[in-house]
Amino acid sequence: MPAGLMFSMPRIPVGRAIALWRAAGACLAIALAGLPGPTRAGAQVLVLVNRTTAVVPLELSAGAASRKLTLNAAHCLPVPLSGSGTLALETGQGRKTYPVKSCGIYYVGEVRKGVVDVGEIEIGRRRDPNTNSDRVASYVSEPVLTEIPVKVVYDDAGAVSPQIWQSTLRRRFEAASQVFRRVCFVEFRIVTIDTWRLPIGVTEFAGALAHLERAATNDAESLLVVGFTGKLRTFEGRHTGGTRGPLHTHLLVRERIERNTEKERLEVLVHELGHFLGAVHSPEGSSVMRPMLGNRRTWVAPSGVIFDPLNTLAMCLVSNEVRMKRSVHLFEFSPAGRQKLRDLYTVMAESLPGDDSARHYLELLGPVSGDAGNH
Ligand SMILES: [Zn+2]
Repeated sequence: MPAGLMFSMPRIPVGRAIALWRAAGACLAIALAGLPGPTRAGAQVLVLVNRTTAVVPLELSAGAASRKLTLNAAHCLPVPLSGSGTLALETGQGRKTYPVKSCGIYYVGEVRKGVVDVGEIEIGRRRDPNTNSDRVASYVSEPVLTEIPVKVVYDDAGAVSPQIWQSTLRRRFEAASQVFRRVCFVEFRIVTIDTWRLPIGVTEFAGALAHLERAATNDAESLLVVGFTGKLRTFEGRHTGGTRGPLHTHLLVRERIERNTEKERLEVLVHELGHFLGAVHSPEGSSVMRPMLGNRRTWVAPSGVIFDPLNTLAMCLVSNEVRMKRSVHLFEFSPAGRQKLRDLYTVMAESLPGDDSARHYLELLGPVSGDAGNH
């Protein structure tokens, strides 16, 4: 497979999902000059996970403030919190409180019928000197949504009328944004929608992405080009989509794969946009970041598109860096943000050893200053 790509590959072993990245760092940079000022206020979060099959009410307290939360079954919820606090819930054996801190991941699980408890998913042992977990105890308000302006190009315009494909893609992006608003306070807004033409002779995915990068550049308003193609469905074609890495300028998404439904197409788009925001492949079968899409799971997931907790935190960290800076490159992230992402990707690489996506995000992050000897 040509270098420089990471693909989503449905219905094939994850070991074939080779992720080879283009060495030139410049390709990963995006200029965020178009973002309005208020979005640059950062926000730390913790992530709550409901591993039970019931809705769980919780109360999060920090300092003198408290906030009631509702955690839907199987869902992850990022909650803005700076520093440390306590989480309280009814366990079935009385009300209990648990200490929590920002950048932590906490799950509610059933220990036996009718009794629940809270545990922490350990991600790295390092104390984060920039988090001030023990010295600061305060909520931060819900961050202003970070808007990623997108240029959409579609290469199959001859198959259906412009009104139909444009409205279909606009609805799909709005549905995807509903997911990202919930999991990392980001929305994708289409600012340009146009056609492009993939040459007949291009029959493999890497060449198609390279062609997209040349043929459809970002205009003054957009930060990300998402190209849809319906022309690769008959070739070696098991890729559902692909990009070169987080915050890369282009994504290529295949349209009309076999007999996929609009729900499955939404999952593919969310998966690829998740990669853009720093998500990597997850072993959790219910996560939209599982390596193999197209297994009809969307048909039996009435709660909608779900991210796993580690990717939820990763995307919150990446979107927070994007929110705070006008120009973002992975190696320009704050040391604390990079260290936490390294911890997350290290755990995720170990949890899915046959897949390269987390390892390549680690490579792209590079070493963090003062990192030696801590892992
Ligand atoms: Zn993928």
